[in-house]
Amino acid sequence: MFSKEKITIAYTVEKCGKCGMQKKRKFSAGDMLFSEVSKCDSCDGIVTIEKIFGETVEQ
Ligand SMILES: [Zn+2]
Repeated sequence: MFSKEKITIAYTVEKCGKCGMQKKRKFSAGDMLFSEVSKCDSCDGIVTIEKIFGETVEQ
């Protein structure tokens, strides 16, 4: 008998403070809430980490 394994995948949501552009990507080591990650692609605003969350999926 098989048992389903649940794993949690962490995601990071980046948001531009100027135009509000949001991007969801997989969490990578070193990501910290509210830290600056890059310049925005569509304006010259600063993109910061808005949210870090985990999603549980069954494999
Ligand atoms: Zn922007």
